[in-house]
Amino acid sequence: MATFLEEVNEKINGVPIQACYHCRKCTAGCPVAFAMEHNPNKIIKMIQMGMRDEVLNSSTIWLCASCETCVTRCPNNVDIARMMDVLREIAIESKVPVKEKRILKFHEAFLSNIKSGGRINEPMMLVNYKLRSGDYFSDMAMGMSMFMKGKIKLISPRTKDMKSVRAIFKSTGA
Ligand code: SF4
Ligand code: SF4
Repeated sequence: MATFLEEVNEKINGVPIQACYHCRKCTAGCPVAFAMEHNPNKIIKMIQMGMRDEVLNSSTIWLCASCETCVTRCPNNVDIARMMDVLREIAIESKVPVKEKRILKFHEAFLSNIKSGGRINEPMMLVNYKLRSGDYFSDMAMGMSMFMKGKIKLISPRTKDMKSVRAIFKSTGA
């Protein structure tokens, strides 16, 4: 049976995370590290040590914003953003309770919106997210303010190439 490290590396399908020599440049540049339970290079260490449950139960994998700052800073080209994606996938496949439930609802609302139109329709996505999360009233004031300033467009055309969008979703099984 594959170790957790082998499972993660296989799904990353790129630079293996053993290439990390824990210089912490990724963590020093990560804009979300201050809120993380375990910082990015610590997550790598935990994977190397086979701490599957601790990693998959961690809020860190859901708080990562996929900004790729860490990827650009890493001297060894370790793709931490991809690694966090892989860890989220494994957590969902393994039915591990998601620590940051609203972040998962946000991902689902985002993907559902892309699947139906090929691009984001902000009002539709907000409604979708609110219905999924049950969080109806937070951010209302900010939303209204953004709308009044024209930052949220009511109409956003679907992409012309929906055939390709459908093909991508089909190929990924999403
Ligand atoms: S920057 Fe790269 S080598 Fe340094 S700790 Fe982060 S992942 Fe490891
Ligand atoms: S991709 Fe994630 S881990 Fe990397 S710097 Fe951005 S938020 Fe931090």
